[in-house]
Formats: sequence, C-alpha cells, structure tokens
Amino acid sequence: MTVAPELADSIGSFLVDQGAPGLISEEDGASVRLTAHFPGAAPVDALTRFAEGLRDIFPDAPPARVETCAVPEADWAENWKDHFPPIAVGERLFVHPPWIAAVPSGRVGIMIDPGMAFGTGQHPTTRGCLVLLERAQHSKPGARVCDVGTGSGILAIAAAKLGAAEVWATDIDVVARAVAEANLVANGVAEAVHVGASLDDIPGQFDIVVANLLGHLLIELAAAITARLAPRGVAIGSGLRTEEEDAVAAAWRAAGLVPLARYDEDGWVTLMCQPS
Ligand code: SAH
Repeated sequence: MTVAPELADSIGSFLVDQGAPGLISEEDGASVRLTAHFPGAAPVDALTRFAEGLRDIFPDAPPARVETCAVPEADWAENWKDHFPPIAVGERLFVHPPWIAAVPSGRVGIMIDPGMAFGTGQHPTTRGCLVLLERAQHSKPGARVCDVGTGSGILAIAAAKLGAAEVWATDIDVVARAVAEANLVANGVAEAVHVGASLDDIPGQFDIVVANLLGHLLIELAAAITARLAPRGVAIGSGLRTEEEDAVAAAWRAAGLVPLARYDEDGWVTLMCQPS
C-alpha cells in the first residue's frame, strides 16, 4: 500500500499486528510504499478502516492506497523459511524461528519470529554481540544490562535468559519497539526486560551495555555509553566494518574505554571494552 510518510510507522505496526511476518518499506519522497505478505487473506477492510482513522489525527495526509495481489503460497512461504535456519551461537545459545521448536540440550533457546526489525541471528554483528555478551555475563551473574538499538529484541532476550537481573532495551524506531515487545512476550521474558526509546530515558548504571548500531553511531555515543557503565562494567559495540575499527576504537579510548576482546566475522567487527 502507498501511504503518507507520517502514517507509515503506525500502519507498519498495524500490518505486523495483523499477522504479516515481514514488511518492506520503500520511501519515495512524498509517500511510503509498504509491502506485506499475509499467509491467508490480507485484512484489507481492517487496514482501510485503520488508515482512514489515522487521517482524523493527520487530516492533511492524502488517503492511503491499498493494493493486493495473490502470491502462490509455496513461493514465498518456503523461500522465506529457508532464510531463517536455526543457529547455535557461542557456547550456550540457540536462535531459532517459531516453526523449529526443538532446542538442543544444554542450550538456551531464543525464539525470533523474523519480522520487520533487524536481529534474526543471521547477521555477523548480532552473532558477535551474542558471543561477547555470553562471555561477559559468564563473569557477571545477575548483571544489569542495557541493549542500545534492540531491533527484534534478540540481545535483550539473550541477556535475560542468560541470567541478567535486570535488562533495559532501547530503540529509536517505534516499529522495532513493538516487534521487540512481541518477541519478549513470546520468549517469556517480558517481566525481566524494560523497553524505552533512548538511553537518556533510562535510569542508573549498567554492568554491561551492548550496542549493535553502526560505526559512526558508536563514535557519537562513545561518551554517553561510557557514562552509563558501572565501575567494572563492559561495553560491547558492533555494526562496524574492519576499516572503521581504528576510528571507533580511538573514539572509545578517548571516552575512557580500553579493548578487552573482539569478534570478527566476514569483515564485521564486534568490540568489547572496559573503563581504563
Ligand atoms: N540489537 C539487534 C538489532 C540491531 S539493528 C541485533 O543485534 O541484531 C540496530 C537498531 O538500532 C535498529 O533497530 C535501529 O532502529 C536502532 N537505533 C539506531 N540508532 C539508535 C540510537 N541512537 N538509539 C537507539 N536505537 C538506535
């Protein structure tokens, strides 16, 4: 469907709530095109009513245009599932989609429904964070953990399941926050994890801050992250390419953090640091 940009977030969340397992969002200047697959019939009437209702709040937005087409079931359903094989990560974790329920003994299952937020476990930066988070939590039982840029919620879920006493998850994207909340419930950790928009909204200091963002954001947030670390806390940063590593490490060093460990997969680097 094609919608006004100011309606895109709300309509995107609505599509996910209605059962779309994925959503493609393409910005085109004055409008946003949202494409969602529904396993059954698309909820066209509900969608049209919802979009019309939003125009009470945004009267200047042009009406949303809904178009549907039938896609042969096997085409998308099977291809989609092929992209999300379950994976063992680190020593104790196992990330799996809902349609694969068996978790190998000795591992902790993290069930992620591949939706519209980043963080299915298939990306090297997510795996880097999981591996180093597991390592950090091993020496910090009952840690207070903050996940900056939670996306699907995968790292916050891992932290809670690995025994964190309290977890905070932040994301600036309202759709990611909605997806994360749903995944927290599905994993039975909604009580243990609090969700917020930004680090600034969250109280206190953390034993572990993990941030899978992008190189330039890790540089921008270096001081803010350092300020929130408990005295013997660790910061885990990811989303940087090998060629950005020196610049990020220098910014973190300038903020008072020294490197402890790094994970590298396919040129994607994850760094773990602690206050000097
Ligand atoms: N933590 C997940 C997802 C990482 S994707 C994983 O490791 O797989 C990065 C997420 O960070 C996105 O959902 C994006 O919306 C969010 N983000 C970007 N800048 C941010 C900021 N300054 N504060 C909080 N979240 C941010």
